[in-house]
Amino acid sequence: MSSGSAIRGSRVGSSPMRPDDRSEPAPRREVTYYCAAGHDAVIRFAAEAPAPNTWDCPRCGQPAGLDRANPPGRTRVEPYKSHLAYVKERRSDADGAAILAEALAKVRQRRGE
Ligand SMILES: [Zn+2]
Repeated sequence: MSSGSAIRGSRVGSSPMRPDDRSEPAPRREVTYYCAAGHDAVIRFAAEAPAPNTWDCPRCGQPAGLDRANPPGRTRVEPYKSHLAYVKERRSDADGAAILAEALAKVRQRRGE
């Protein structure tokens, strides 16, 4: 009758699956993140969960890091985007060329060419 003891064993093992309202809340720890704008945000994580290296600042939405002296917003190298680059994202190359030609024509007109 080894199967009977196996069933009893599984029933004992299933008891932790039931949440107990009177049990203490899961241990938490507070991690402070600093953003480039000088905000510091205390985020609570479950104690066993690893804290991510960056967290979006709740106040300004910039990425915030764990090092106050070196927030990620300041070190992250983001290529400068010109206005033309943004325009090119919205328009096809052909549209961009037409706009550029039109702009050049206006400039030449102003110069009296
Ligand atoms: Zn911020």
